[in-house]
Amino acid sequence: MRLEADLHTHTIASGHGYSTVKEMVQSAHEKGLQMIAITDHGLNMPGAPHVYYFTNMITWPRVMEEVEVLRGVEANIISTTGKLDMPDDVLSNLDIVLAGFHHGTGYLSNSIEENTRAMIAAIMNPYVHVIVHPGNPEFPVDLEKVVLAARAFGKALEINNNSPLVRPGSTPRCQLLAKLVKRHEVMVALNSDSHLCYTIGECMNSIQTVIDAGIDEKYILNLSTDRIKDFLAGKKSWVEHSRTSHG
Ligand SMILES: [Zn+2]
Ligand SMILES: [Zn+2]
Repeated sequence: MRLEADLHTHTIASGHGYSTVKEMVQSAHEKGLQMIAITDHGLNMPGAPHVYYFTNMITWPRVMEEVEVLRGVEANIISTTGKLDMPDDVLSNLDIVLAGFHHGTGYLSNSIEENTRAMIAAIMNPYVHVIVHPGNPEFPVDLEKVVLAARAFGKALEINNNSPLVRPGSTPRCQLLAKLVKRHEVMVALNSDSHLCYTIGECMNSIQTVIDAGIDEKYILNLSTDRIKDFLAGKKSWVEHSRTSHG
């Protein structure tokens, strides 16, 4: 399985990333990726960039080093009502919006019920495209309810390659998530969550998880840049794309 894009990456702007935009893009090119999204952390993350960092992304070239670069953010869900730590008018001007739970950002609940409600509210947010690391056991959710909401609202769920390393206990949760994704036929994104140029596009853990679960390739968002573009444009034709380009 060869992914054409990595939709979740961080630069030095996140405060705990280690590479510049140029380094991330160069590394992506060397690895044969056709597209990446730069998705630095939202405003409530300690060390996160100022909001101007995101608004100023309009100055970026669309293509750098032959790699299409999407302007994005990994927003924080900061309340049980699903509120995000980014203004809507900023989100509406980005190409891709990821959302998820993170420590130190103001989200305090730890009940499954409240976490699930918050995550589903984020899924319903029209600016959000992908929910990141829903398998994180530190913010447990009812995965089946989350999967059904993602299906209902046409959003993608992430199987984060970094989770086994930085979110202990994620592996069985991600395996369960993959089974539910297969059962309910939901779009899934396999991302590196790279904070360093050398690990961009590295998704072996995530790929193995979807293979083990038997997920059809047509549900893997970042197998094809055409599929990503249709998905981000809200087009329903992504399934047709997947059928034609990947059988
Ligand atoms: Zn994250
Ligand atoms: Zn991240």
